[in-house]
Amino acid sequence: DHALNNADPEVHDIIRKEKERQFKSLELIASENFTSRAVMEAVGSCLTNKYSEGLPGKRYYGGNEHIDELETLCQERALAAFHLDGNKWGVNVQPLSGSPANFEVYTAILKPHDRIMGLDLPHGGHLSHGFMTPKRRVSGTSIYFESMPYRLDESTGLVDYDMLEKTAILFRPKLIIAGASAYPRDFDYPRMRKIADSVGAFLMMDMAHISGLVAASVVGDPFEYCDVVTTTTHKSLRGPRGGMIFFRKEPVLGVDLETAINNAVFPGLQGGPHNHTIGGLAVCLKHAQSPAFKSYQKQVIANCRALAQRLGELGYKLVSGGSDNHLVLVDVRPMGIDGARVEKILDLASITLNKNSVPGDKSALVPGGIRIGSPAMTTRGFKESEFVATAELIHEGVQIALEAKSLASGPKLQDFLKFVASPEFPLQDKLSDLRKRVE
Ligand code: PLP
Repeated sequence: DHALNNADPEVHDIIRKEKERQFKSLELIASENFTSRAVMEAVGSCLTNKYSEGLPGKRYYGGNEHIDELETLCQERALAAFHLDGNKWGVNVQPLSGSPANFEVYTAILKPHDRIMGLDLPHGGHLSHGFMTPKRRVSGTSIYFESMPYRLDESTGLVDYDMLEKTAILFRPKLIIAGASAYPRDFDYPRMRKIADSVGAFLMMDMAHISGLVAASVVGDPFEYCDVVTTTTHKSLRGPRGGMIFFRKEPVLGVDLETAINNAVFPGLQGGPHNHTIGGLAVCLKHAQSPAFKSYQKQVIANCRALAQRLGELGYKLVSGGSDNHLVLVDVRPMGIDGARVEKILDLASITLNKNSVPGDKSALVPGGIRIGSPAMTTRGFKESEFVATAELIHEGVQIALEAKSLASGPKLQDFLKFVASPEFPLQDKLSDLRKRVE
């Protein structure tokens, strides 16, 4: 018997435990979702066995007639899902994930050490947009390119476009990157287009977090203004783990994006495409064109608003004051606590979210905020009232975290973690009670 439970009980058991964890907890990580059974079936299929370096009709391996059909279908569905005219836009569906997709774009249109500007990581940007510290170039993007991040206006929590414009005029970037991992608002694409044009830069949008919302047209459309749009496929889009790069077919700044990007993906940075992922992605992109998907995305936004409103009523400060999309960023510092302690206590209560830096933070390890997203629990069927209840459960967790902080032996995070983990932790009953109600 070759079934997993017989062939490898150890791995089978780990998967069983992880499945149980996923289904028992309140899954509020903004970048996660529950993909469909149909997508999982495609991902777990024989498509994983096949090598197919190259593009449909131009492969370096034989036996690809069905893979060609699959990848072409996936491309067509990708363009249709994002309402794109195939004469104006093309897509590469082979990127292995979001970070490789971004690096492939940089490799395609930049030379080593060309200048880029993306949103700073502590202000909500992604590592792959060029993060570096004063001491270290952290991401490959900042190692191979010169990065000058733009930031939020700390008083409003919104992107400081005036500062972006002033800095771009001095820094002369070749590429400006819109998009973020922890930004609750839409980007001002027309403004960014104007800034990019004024300095002769490409404009790219990394819509990883919001691609499901873009497909459903419930947030602004980056395709109207950008030259290149990248995305992951496993977040709000609800597909398998992967990436895509959309590009304009007309040359931009003298560059044939189609050729440059396709060559950067293969042979530039990747070998054989993950055909099982492309199969799962095609399934996801068919669903992304359905009325059900549009209703789902509308509910994602409505749920996030309900969550934001209830948190506001409970006295929480939200970065930017609210949300236009699927996530809220809560500054918990005014409550007398930090994101790391809140994340830990909520984790013990089966509420899964992540600590996140907020504008003005000093430490990345003990940041002042938490990020909460609505896509996953909306997939599980939550409506506004369940998200109101979720806000209240989070608030209970914060009260426990505050009490634990005041009782811990010292002021350090380590003291807190040790205290919480000790068998004599006096708030164990409160925590178990919260966990039971969550589960
Ligand atoms: N871009 C953005 C905006 C993201 O938030 C993320 C992941 O969180 C990525 C890219 C990277 O995607 P991956 O983790 O698939 O490399």
